This record gives sequence, C-alpha cells and structure tokens, in this order.
Amino acid sequence: MQTSEIAKRWVDYFAKNDHHIAPSASLVSPDPSLLFTVAGMVPFIPYIIGTDTSPHPRIASVQKCIRTKDIEEVGKTTRHGTFFQMLGNFSFGDYFKEGAINYAYEFLTGPEAEGNLGFDPERFWVTVWNEDAEAISHLKNVGVDESRIVRLTREENFWDTGQPGPAGPCAEWHYDRGPEFGPEAVGGTVDPGGDRYLEIWNLVFDQYLRGEGAGKDYPLIRELDQKAIDTGAGLERIAYLKQGVANMYETDEVFPVIAKAQELSGKTYGAGGDDDVRMRVVGDHVRSALMLIGDGVTPGNEGRGFVLRRLLRRSVRAMKLLGVDERTMPELLPASIDAMSATYPELAANRAKIEAIAYNEEDAFRRTLVAGTTIFDTAVAQVKKAGDKALSGTDAFTLHDTYGFPIDITLEMAAEQGIQVDEAKFRELMKEQKERARADAKAKKGGHADVGVYNGIKEAEGLTEFRAYQELTTATEIT
Ligand code: ATP
Ligand code: MG
Ligand code: MG
Ligand code: MG
Repeated sequence: MQTSEIAKRWVDYFAKNDHHIAPSASLVSPDPSLLFTVAGMVPFIPYIIGTDTSPHPRIASVQKCIRTKDIEEVGKTTRHGTFFQMLGNFSFGDYFKEGAINYAYEFLTGPEAEGNLGFDPERFWVTVWNEDAEAISHLKNVGVDESRIVRLTREENFWDTGQPGPAGPCAEWHYDRGPEFGPEAVGGTVDPGGDRYLEIWNLVFDQYLRGEGAGKDYPLIRELDQKAIDTGAGLERIAYLKQGVANMYETDEVFPVIAKAQELSGKTYGAGGDDDVRMRVVGDHVRSALMLIGDGVTPGNEGRGFVLRRLLRRSVRAMKLLGVDERTMPELLPASIDAMSATYPELAANRAKIEAIAYNEEDAFRRTLVAGTTIFDTAVAQVKKAGDKALSGTDAFTLHDTYGFPIDITLEMAAEQGIQVDEAKFRELMKEQKERARADAKAKKGGHADVGVYNGIKEAEGLTEFRAYQELTTATEIT
C-alpha cells in the first residue's frame, strides 16, 4: 500500500465520519511561537486552548511536519524523520474518548476492502494514564485485551502546553512487530529495548483545566467545559508496516533518494553499517530540504534558513563520506521531487526554482568546505600539538559564522579526529551574536537608517519588490 493510498484512506475514513477535511498548513508554522509546524494540531491550537471557536466541530488532516529535535535519531532508529506527515483527527466539544478510541480501532483493524488498514488487532498495545478508568473501559469494549493495556504515570503519558490551561491524558497505540525485533513487553512497559514496539498513533484527551506547577506537578482544577480530541498518527510509520519494509526510510516516498545515493556512490544499501545510516540520512534530509524550499524557506545563517542549510549540508557531507566528491543534488533532488509530487504537485510545478536554490547551496558549501576544512585541519593540528582534547568554541564559531559549517558537521569531523569540541563556549558565542543582532535591530528602529547604503542599492538595482512578507521569518530560535 503506497503512502499516498494510506493518506487517502485516512481522509476518506474521516470524511465518511462527518469530519471537515482541512488541507495541510505550511511547514512555516502558522503559530508565531514555533519555527516549524511540528504536529497536526499546530494549525488548530486556538481551538484547542479555547481562544477561538472552530467553524467545524470535527476536523481531519494530513499535516506536513518538521521536527528538528529528532535530527540525531534519523537513520539510527527505524522511525524518526526530520520531515514526516502526521495524520490527525480532531473534535472540539464533539465526540470524546469513546469516539476517538472507536475510530482508531476501526480504522487500524477494520477490513482493508472497506477502506481501513486491516492490521491484526492482537498486535496492538495501548498505553494509558493509570488513572484513566474511562479510556481503559472503552479500550476493553472495542476488544483490546487487558494484558496489552499498559498503565503509565502522569510523567509518561499526559499532555499539557507547559502552562496553566488545558491538559489531559493520552492513549498511544503501539504495534508489535514480532519477536524477531526484540524482547516481549512484560511488566507494564512497551519499551523493553529493541525496535519491537512501534508507536504509531497518539490520542490526546484534552480534558482538564490545570493550574500552576513545574513539569507534571500541577493540580487538575476541574474538567473543561469544552473538551477536545487531538490525535496524531505517523503516516510514514504506518507505511513502513504496510509495505513490509524495515524502517520509514525504505518506504516509497523516501527510498528513491537512497537508490540514487547507491547509484552515485557505487555502495550497496543494506549491509548494516555506517554507510546505511548515511544513506538513510541522505534520503531523509534531501526530502526535508525539498519540502522546506517548497514552502518558501531559503538557506541562511539563522532560524529556518539555518535548519534548511544544515539539512542540505549534512546530506552533501554524508555523500562525501560515502565517497562522492562530485555535485550530488542534481541527482538526488529530482528523485525526491518525483517521489513526492504525486501528493504535492506544486513541487513539480516549481521544480526549476526549487532546484536552483538547492543546487546553489550545494555549490556554496562545496566552495566553503575546501576553505573551512583547511581552517579546521589547522585548528585540529594545533589542538593535538598542544596535547589538548578539544577544539575551542571560538574555532567552532568561526567555522559556523564564516564558513557556514553547521555545528553538527564540526562535531562529526572532530569526532573522526578523536577530539571533542567546546560546545558550551560555542553556544555562548552564538547567544552573544544573537543578542548583538537584536540590539542592533533595536537601535536601528529608533535611530536613523543609513540612507547612503539604501541610495547605493537603489542606483545599482533600481527599485526592488517588497518581499518581506513572503520571505522573512518571525521566529529567531536556532536549533
Ligand atoms: P516517538 O516517541 O517515537 O519519538 P513521539 O511520542 O515524539 O514519537 P508524538 O508527538 O506523540 O510522537 O506524535 C504523534 C505521532 O507522530 C507518533 O505517534 C508517530 O507516529 C509520529 N511521529 C512523531 N515523530 C515522528 C518523526 N520524527 N518521524 C516520523 N513520525 C513521527
Ligand atoms: Mg519523539
Ligand atoms: Mg513517544
Ligand atoms: Mg507520542
């Protein structure tokens, strides 16, 4: 079952059950406090926290997501992409626990011939909050065996926004891939080690009004007047199970890039070593970069632009470690566009523009890689000569600031040389630079703009189109 077929089944199933189907929002988060859309619920935050009323009591969507915090997991676990698609169904004051559990069970285990996914019900383990008797009872009613309902604490299975407001327990569906993937879960866990249990769907029951308190240590003041359901299922995770492959990178929307990486490097995927991880990183990062450019992000030195730069540069570097010194994007990116444009036709329509941005970034990196590597090698030689163990934070900062080396590339190159990096100092310098930029911007706001510079540009370029609304970003967080 192709990934797009699963997405279509999702949409059809929830449309049939009276949900309004919302199109995916941009990866550039509609919520200004977030750099990226990290979950299906992001476009609906005002309806969930109750600052706005949804025009539809039931909504379902297939939302494009970016989670940069998962970047280190990519290629190493079977299930973490920096880009992925989250299937979501939402109820704002309409159905609650019973409805959400019934829908999840029917869609996962109902017959394929009727538009469901047809998974074996015996494979599912569900984690709940240990005080959520209601969820436990509904799970038993649909047919989940007591032995596969895992009771967890509030620390482990409870959603909140980090501040007073709505909060509530979760019920997460995990698929048992079988004994060949690790030990069986016994004694109240679904994490016995290994890759056996795959979390695929999180049902969040937005039930309580919570008070002040650190972490999960807050009072549940009362039940909310308008309860909400917010669920998220991983499309790629379902796809990898349905396609009978070993991980999400081998699914139909990602693997074509890995196939290209094999072809370019002459290496065969599947041997199980570092090269496999590198190819999975390439498969993931090229697609994430593509989707970001498709949503209007351009490479830069901070915020979203830096995340995109980091993804592209990490792919180029991974290809280099696979032994490819030539340009790679002109081969890899089209493979990803072809794999994704059935679902996102705008990618093929904007092909030339997207390709130009990615290819320019690769070329720029290839140039700075040469200069930066010389600086890096000299610094490493000095560290070794002095008998030190770590590259200074200042050197790491120069590599970032002047040569556009994302910190993880510096860390990886240092590790290859058996040395560490003074990351604390690097972060401190980054912070100082950000504060300087902020202070500069503030000073400029109140003071006089440098009209000379402006006139120079106007003379050289003529009047330019004002594109700040399309191209500038509001959030400044750097990852
Ligand atoms: P995990 O524990 O595996 O990191 P999570 O608990 O962080 O997942 P949720 O925030 O509950 O994930 O998101 C809902 C669903 O989205 C998950 O159950 C999973 O199917 C999917 N998902 C989350 N993160 C990723 C990712 N990085 N790549 C692919 N799918 C993901
Ligand atoms: Mg996670
Ligand atoms: Mg989890
Ligand atoms: Mg989860």
